[in-house]
Amino acid sequence: MVAYHKWFALPERPVCDARAPFVLPEYLKMTLSKSVMRNVARFRIRRHGLKCETGLYGRSPDRSARVCNLCENGDYIQDEKHVIFSCIGTEHLRHQFIQLFDNISEGDIKGFVFRHNSEVYKFIRAAVNLFD
Ligand SMILES: [Zn+2]
Repeated sequence: MVAYHKWFALPERPVCDARAPFVLPEYLKMTLSKSVMRNVARFRIRRHGLKCETGLYGRSPDRSARVCNLCENGDYIQDEKHVIFSCIGTEHLRHQFIQLFDNISEGDIKGFVFRHNSEVYKFIRAAVNLFD
C-alpha cells in the first residue's frame, strides 16, 4: 500500500470540489489494448509476479524472498522501481523503449508512469508479462 501511494497514486481533488474526490488515471481514457490496460492496472496495485509481492506469500517471509533472482549481485528487491530502471531481466525492454528513458531520472517512477505516453504502458505490459 505504501508503494502504491508513493509511486502510483494520483492526487485527489480538493474536498470543496463537488465531483468525486478521485481522478481517473489517463491510461483508462486512452485507446489501449485490453492486455496493456490489464497489466498497467496490475502493475499499479501489485497484482503481478514480482518478488516484492510474491515473496510475501510464505509463512515467514524475509527479505531474501523478495530479492531479484535475475540480477547477479543478488541484493536488489525485485520491485517496480527495480524492474523499470535497473533489472538485468528487463534490460532488453529498456533498449527496445530507449526513448522513454531520455530526460527521466533513474528511480522517478511517477515521472516515468505519468507521462501518459502509450509506449510507457506497452513497456509496463511487457515487463509484467516477463514476471508472470
Ligand atoms: Zn533484477
